[in-house]
Amino acid sequence: MLPPPPYRFGHDLRVPGAEAQLMEVRVQPYHTQLGQANQGWVMVMLDVTAQRQAEEIARIRDRAIAASSNGIIITKADQPGRPIIYVNPAFERITGYPAAEVVGQSCRKLQSGDRNQPGLVALRRALNTQQSCSVVLRNYRKDGSLFWNELNVSPVFNEAGENTHFVGILNDITERRQAEAQLLHNAFHDVLTGLPNRALFMKQLDQAISRSQRNPGYLFAVLFLDLDRFKTINDSLGHQAGDSLLKIVADRLSQCLRLEDMVARLGGDEFAILLDEITSLNDAIHIAHRIQKTLDQPLAIEGHDVFTSSSIGIALSATGYSQAEDLLRDADIAMYRAKQSGKAHYEVFDRDMHARALALLRLEADLRYAVERRQLELYYQPIVALDSGKVQGFEALLRWNHPERGLVSPDEFVPLAEETGLIVEIGQWALRQATQQLQAWRVQGLADSLTVSVNLSAKQFAQPGLGEQIQDILRETGLAASYLKLEITESVIMENVTLAVEMLKPLRKAGMEIYMDDFGTGFSSLSYLHRLPLDVMKIDRSFIQSLQQTGESLEIVRTIVRLAENLGMRAIAEGIETEIQLRQLQLLGCHGGQGYLFSPPLTAEAAAAWLQQSQAETV
Ligand code: C2E
Ligand code: MG
Ligand code: MG
Repeated sequence: MLPPPPYRFGHDLRVPGAEAQLMEVRVQPYHTQLGQANQGWVMVMLDVTAQRQAEEIARIRDRAIAASSNGIIITKADQPGRPIIYVNPAFERITGYPAAEVVGQSCRKLQSGDRNQPGLVALRRALNTQQSCSVVLRNYRKDGSLFWNELNVSPVFNEAGENTHFVGILNDITERRQAEAQLLHNAFHDVLTGLPNRALFMKQLDQAISRSQRNPGYLFAVLFLDLDRFKTINDSLGHQAGDSLLKIVADRLSQCLRLEDMVARLGGDEFAILLDEITSLNDAIHIAHRIQKTLDQPLAIEGHDVFTSSSIGIALSATGYSQAEDLLRDADIAMYRAKQSGKAHYEVFDRDMHARALALLRLEADLRYAVERRQLELYYQPIVALDSGKVQGFEALLRWNHPERGLVSPDEFVPLAEETGLIVEIGQWALRQATQQLQAWRVQGLADSLTVSVNLSAKQFAQPGLGEQIQDILRETGLAASYLKLEITESVIMENVTLAVEMLKPLRKAGMEIYMDDFGTGFSSLSYLHRLPLDVMKIDRSFIQSLQQTGESLEIVRTIVRLAENLGMRAIAEGIETEIQLRQLQLLGCHGGQGYLFSPPLTAEAAAAWLQQSQAETV
């Protein structure tokens, strides 16, 4: 049986001569009287092209919404709580909520606990005023995990202009956020230790400075910390051990501080600490003390017990700083002073220190030009055989004719040259100059069998090509190696005995003699001495100078002279100033000596004159 009319058919009816159209034909029975059989049929043809196209587009739009990778959510606008009426599959995937659980519910379901986040405040304002908006929200998935999303919301209006719905498009930006957060973290933290880095420290310091400017009662301090033996540990145990050490130190430092303080790694083995809200300098000193005690404890690294200590510089905010850099610089200067005063110390910065640091900086700049401008000069001090009184040779001693400061002592500039690496160039110059000078005296017939001793610094000594350089200089000047003596201080040799043996052997083989300088001050281990290729022990001046006052010094000098003899070496006493000292040394059997009693260090001309005179006296 047929269903009740009207009947529809003929969707693809085409009207000839017109554009392709979709026609719907409706056929309806025609009655003249109710209840009677129909007299005919009424056929109505409708053009449904537009309607069908609209339906097609709506279907495609539904597909697009369903297939979108962005979450899409549609809510009512005109009902309390703006209940959700539709969510697409992407929404379900992003939030973990199946559509069935959220449709009919308010969106608040996703926002537990974060009602006041800025994005939400802006969203509420937009919804209440029926505006479009784009916000970033921190929401929660069904499993409670947090996700970040970018939400674009637009109001939908009906024909009467009433806001009936809101459509929201949700973009999950959690991964992007995490990557950004990681980048931000990396920009302000040290990768190895996880501590804040210099940039973050300076930021924090800037804030502390601004605070102290607003509130004069607020006091804080900066500690600059440097490990004392890090390089040795790194060089001997390897970089991995060095890294472990830095991590342990970072942990220990953090443990020594309060939550409101900040410790940062500036680079290498340098750390900076900001002590917030202290009551006086004593607080800072107290903490520096505590840190040093903690770091003094041995650290277990790769099965070794490693000992380290630290030097700390303290700068206090009370001095009225306006630049973070200045404060850190002053703490650094104070740290440097602490290091100079024997490591494992702390120093508090004062204004004089700044002046001294500046002077040192200027000296360094001047020193760079000293060689070029021929301001360096060698002085020569005779070394005399104590039994005969005959001159054996000279020690070449550096002097700097500074244009403003006059004659500067090597004690003042050699350590600086050493630190800046300039010593390598200066040392080369001294070697060449001294050998040339002796050769010149020999040519003049002044120095038949005389020798010249040249001091070598630690850095020079550690230079791999030193032996060849010296040989080159000897070749250039034509002096035989046996006339050149090299002086190396006991402490430099003892710092690395193995290296010393390795460096010295070829030099000695080439014919040079090696003098161990300042003997008695460098804590030689007697067990090492016989292994060292040495010819002379130069007894440090301090023992000679106290010869007359203490019997103890006499015993020490006697022991050193005997020790030298037992090891097949000679002893030369430094700094002989009086006849009594000379007599005592002669009695002890000391072989050679130098000192003001014979002559102070002399310029090359004065030394030549001195030679001529002493030769005239002996003839
Ligand atoms: P040093 O090698 O132990 O030199 C001996 C120092 O004792 C010299 O000091 C000398 O002037 C001083 N002296 C000599 N006799 C007497 C005396 O009777 N009484 C007193 N009070 N002092 C005396 P100077 O020339 O000031 O040199 C100091 C140090 O600087 C040297 O100690 C040496 O370690 C270093 N030095 C000097 N020239 C050079 C150099 O060319 N290269 C390197 N690397 N270091 C150098
Ligand atoms: Mg010397
Ligand atoms: Mg000496």
